[in-house]
This record gives sequence, C-alpha cells and structure tokens, in this order.
Amino acid sequence: MPAADPEAALKRNAITEVKTIYAELAAQPIERSCSLRTECCQFRLTGKTPHLTRGEALIAAKALRASGRKSQPESSDGACPMLDPFSSRCLIYKDRPFGCRTHFCAAAGGPYARKDVLHLIHRLLEIDERLGGDGAHPIGDALSDALRTCH
Ligand code: SF4
Repeated sequence: MPAADPEAALKRNAITEVKTIYAELAAQPIERSCSLRTECCQFRLTGKTPHLTRGEALIAAKALRASGRKSQPESSDGACPMLDPFSSRCLIYKDRPFGCRTHFCAAAGGPYARKDVLHLIHRLLEIDERLGGDGAHPIGDALSDALRTCH
C-alpha cells in the first residue's frame, strides 16, 4: 500500500472545509440574487479584486483544470482572468471564491455586511494558516500559486 501523503490529505481536508463554508454561506437567510451580469468581474471598472485564501485558491485551481485549462487565461482588458471573453461567463462560477459570493453588485442586493460573514472569514483564514498561507491574495496571484502547487 502506498505511503500516505500528509500534504495531499491536508489539501483534501481544506477543500472539503472551504466547500462547507460556501454551503453555509448559501444557507444564510440573507437574500441576494446574482444574475450573472458579470459587472463585478470587471476589475478595471470596479477598482476591486477578490482576494483568495489558500483553500479558496485550491478550489478555484481545480475548477479551472476541470474546465480543460492547464494555466490561468490572460486578461488584457482589466477583467478577471476567470471571465471567459467568448461566453462572458465565469469559468469557475460554481466554485467561485468567497469574495465573489459576498461582494455582490448593487443590482444583486449589495455586499454582505462584514459582521454577517466574519465568522466564515475567520474559518477561511484558519484553513489558510494550516496550509502555510499568510492571508488572502488577489485572485491572479493566489490562483497562479495554487496551480503551481496543486496537481
Ligand atoms: S472568479 Fe468568476 S465570479 Fe469571481 S470575479 Fe472572476 S469571473 Fe467574476
């Protein structure tokens, strides 16, 4: 029997925990309605970029690979690299990061109040620390790092 790989197990557990956090967020009684307008994905226009903890980045990297891509797409127009320029859809929508779920555009109901999601942010940061991270990083950097280390 092959020897257990503790790092792989750590990553697997982190992914499960972060997905649980996403599910708990979705179950919160805060009404928001994302209608895939993708305005919030235009970073140059919004001046805001989602920051990902390591667990979130692992999930995003796996989702990107599952879409058939080996590397992060280039973005030349200031949009999120996960926004497909052909379909204008997020390549990883089902597995999009926490920030994309909580910093909704005004049309979707506005951002979540920090106090309503702080307990979940703390858990994401705990998982990040367990994975050797130093906090959340902008999506491009976080994803590059995860793609390098996650196979
Ligand atoms: S990850 Fe997806 S939902 Fe989030 S900003 Fe990028 S394209 Fe938009």
